[in-house]
Amino acid sequence: MFSCQTRFGGGGAPGGGDWIGADTWNPAEKPVVDGEIDWPDARIGIALEGTRRVVRANNLPTHPTGRFPIARGDDAYAYDRNPNSIRPQDILLELPAVPTLAAEATCVPMGMIAFALTGVAIYNALDALGRDAPAHEIQDACGGHPQRSGQYHYHSHAPCMADTRSGAGGHSDLAGYALDGFGLYGLYGDGGRVLSNADLDACHGHIHGLDWDGARRDLYHYHLTPEYPYTIGCFRGAVERAALASPPPNRPPEGPPPLGGNRGEAILRFAAEALGVSVDALRQAVGPPPPDFARAARVLGLDEEAVRRAMHEAMRSAGGQGN
Ligand SMILES: [Zn+2]
Ligand SMILES: [Zn+2]
Repeated sequence: MFSCQTRFGGGGAPGGGDWIGADTWNPAEKPVVDGEIDWPDARIGIALEGTRRVVRANNLPTHPTGRFPIARGDDAYAYDRNPNSIRPQDILLELPAVPTLAAEATCVPMGMIAFALTGVAIYNALDALGRDAPAHEIQDACGGHPQRSGQYHYHSHAPCMADTRSGAGGHSDLAGYALDGFGLYGLYGDGGRVLSNADLDACHGHIHGLDWDGARRDLYHYHLTPEYPYTIGCFRGAVERAALASPPPNRPPEGPPPLGGNRGEAILRFAAEALGVSVDALRQAVGPPPPDFARAARVLGLDEEAVRRAMHEAMRSAGGQGN
C-alpha cells in the first residue's frame, strides 16, 4: 500500500489477539462488537450533475451496526475499548463522472479514501499505529466501527454490502466510489472468481468492460479483496483536494479546538501555525495533493524536513488518529 502517512503512533486498539498469526489472521476467531442498532436517519444520495457525480450523505449506515462505544460486557472489550459513538457527518463529494487515469499513482491518506453505497466511509487498511486495521481493530458484524469524530467506516470488504454479482460472468456489483471517481467493486472479477492481489495492479484495480451509468465502457476500477490491503492501495486517478478534505470533521471532544471548515483545511491550519506561515501561503506552496514538500519548503524558504514533519503532525492532529 502506498500510504501518505509513513510515521505512526497513538490511538487504535491496544494489542493483538489470538486470531493473529505470523502472516495471516483468522476473521472467524476474532470477536465482533455486539448489538444491532438501526439508523433510520441514514441518508445517501448520488446524482450525476453534468460531468460530476455528486454524493451527498450523512455517513449513517443503511444497515444495522453494533453498539458503540464498546460496552464493558462485550467480549470485544477485552481487545478494543473503542470509546467512540457513531455520529452523523456531512458528506459532500464531487467526483468526476467518468474518471481518467492520472500520469502517476498517488498515496492514500488516513481517513476516508472511498465512499460505500451503504452510506459510509471506507478507510485504508491501516490503523492509527500503521498496522493491518481489519486484523487489529475490532469491528461489528457489518465490518465497521466509528473513529474519534464518530465517523463509522470500513477498512475492508463489509459483509453488509449487497453484492448480487449481476455483472457479466458474475462480476461483483459496485460497492462504492473511490475519491478519484473510479468505482470500487466487490470481491468477484469476471467469471465470478474471487480476486487476489495477483489479479490487480498495485493500486488494487484493473481495466475491463463494465456497465458504467448505463453504458458499457472499458474502465479502470478497484476491487475489494479478502487479503491486505483489502480496498485501495493507491489512487490511479486524480484526487482533488476538495474530495480528500471531506467530510468536515465533527470535532472529537478530546481533540484540538474547533477550526471550522473541513479536514484538509484543519491540516493546513495546524501546519501553518506550526511553521509560522499563513494558511494561504502554505496552501499555495504545497499545491494539489499529494503535497509537494520540497516545493513548499523552497517557496516558503523553510527546511523540507520541517515542512514534512509539520504536515504529518497536522494530519494526525486533524483526525488521523483512531483511524
Ligand atoms: Zn473488475
Ligand atoms: Zn477504523
